[in-house]
Amino acid sequence: MINAHARVEKTGPERAGAERTEIVFQKQGFASVMDEAEPARQWTRIRSRLQLEVGDVEYRSWLRQMTLAGIDGDEVTVLLPTRFLRDWVRSHYGEKITVLWQQENSAIRRVDIRVGKGKSGDSCQEDPAVAGLAESLAPAPRPPFPPTPAPLRAVATGSLRVADELSAPLDPRFTFDSFVVGKPNEFAYACARRVAENPGSKEFNPLFLYGGVGLGKTHLMHAVGLELTRRGALPATVAYMSAEKFMYRFIAAIRSQQTIEFKDHLRSVDVLMIDDLQFLIGKDNTQEEFFHTFNALVDAGKQIVVSADKSPSDLSGLEDRLRTRLGCGMVADLHATTFELRISILEAKATRAKCDVPGRVLEFLAHKITTNVRELEGSLNRLIAYANLFNRPITLETAQEVLHDILKAHDKRVTIDEIQRRVAEHYNMRIGDMVSARRARAVARPRQVAMYLAKQLTSRSLPEIGKKFGNRDHTTVMHACSRVTELIAADSGFAEDVNLLKKMLES
Ligand code: ADP
Ligand code: MG
Repeated sequence: MINAHARVEKTGPERAGAERTEIVFQKQGFASVMDEAEPARQWTRIRSRLQLEVGDVEYRSWLRQMTLAGIDGDEVTVLLPTRFLRDWVRSHYGEKITVLWQQENSAIRRVDIRVGKGKSGDSCQEDPAVAGLAESLAPAPRPPFPPTPAPLRAVATGSLRVADELSAPLDPRFTFDSFVVGKPNEFAYACARRVAENPGSKEFNPLFLYGGVGLGKTHLMHAVGLELTRRGALPATVAYMSAEKFMYRFIAAIRSQQTIEFKDHLRSVDVLMIDDLQFLIGKDNTQEEFFHTFNALVDAGKQIVVSADKSPSDLSGLEDRLRTRLGCGMVADLHATTFELRISILEAKATRAKCDVPGRVLEFLAHKITTNVRELEGSLNRLIAYANLFNRPITLETAQEVLHDILKAHDKRVTIDEIQRRVAEHYNMRIGDMVSARRARAVARPRQVAMYLAKQLTSRSLPEIGKKFGNRDHTTVMHACSRVTELIAADSGFAEDVNLLKKMLES
């Protein structure tokens, strides 16, 4: 129940005698052979080192409330007041804390991080009674999230109301206009547009966008928010945040006993967008809070937009009732990009950057970097920056040189199957014709090119290659190789084609 969250009590005494940690020894015998104050001193040093290593902001956000419960043989027990904090600290700092303990005390093997209230006074350094709403919902203490690239942040300062602070800033570059639409994303795009035009309509509520990393989920969500604001919605009525931030804010609200205010603020928005919902898997209480907020908003005709890396039905670990409700509106999949879409995206970005990038280079990039638009974009930006800096034209060679590291990461050992696929794609023929008996020039020539490349780029023998090309004889492969070599010498256009294919396939 949410109300229960509001009742979570503050931990620790009002004032911290920071160094005055009490240790509960669970094994009496152990206590007697060891200076009782020693673990406390070790713990103090560990906390100081943690604070130094992770920085003040992270420390205050997540680690400050840790208390030492005791040492039992080779195991240390550390307490945190809530399950969220426990999970967070376990997954983000568990290893570091263990290492630090082992450095202090070589007898320690394990650090157990649990939910509980410590007696000690090392948690709250200030009186929580005076930490008001501002502390719970506003930026302080700031969570350790990477800063959002956001010129809009500038306006999110000063005396804005807390409700305005609920939303992370929207990136003004992520508009519908700058989103390149192709087969793999046209449905998701259309749904997002529709929601921006008519938020809260029944068939599109909630809108659930899902797909792999870097395929445009966040971009589309920001576009919805930007479009709504452009059309006059008050920033305070559109809230966009990552699920991680949702959780963080929720914890902060619990910590300062402001859950009611937190709920009220969330429920006052007209459009709530939560990005990367998969983050809530295993975070039961936050899920529950989100579920109630979700219901309250949908029942009031407000719009919800959610993104995740999987479809609702594949998000195992989400509560069933939440999963069911998420699937009740419109579910739109952002599919992996196609070669055509990648080319269109590159063209659009090059035009926007007012940079003339040869088609061949764009093709090369679109062939090489296939999984993630973010990386594709990053590669192009790097190339453009390089060309501007050194005032050099962009060519295939510069691309290879400048993007060496990125390309290498994408390279794998090239196989004959891969060669056949790429060559067929390049010449617009069916992959089946690589192994068919057809002798028409339109299929025979690309097949010869593929055989030539297989010889050049793999360590397969001529008979092995022949076998992969519909059980052809090794003399056929030999003939193909010499024919292609002749053509390369005679026809520069053909030579360039083969060269491009080779570069694309090469590791
Ligand atoms: P996700 O949230 O799905 O991981 P993002 O929305 O953050 O992906 O997209 C990653 C980057 O790729 C962003 O810079 C975004 O602008 C860009 N991007 C993704 N898809 C497209 C597209 N169809 N058109 C233009 N840019 C895109
Ligand atoms: Mg994203």
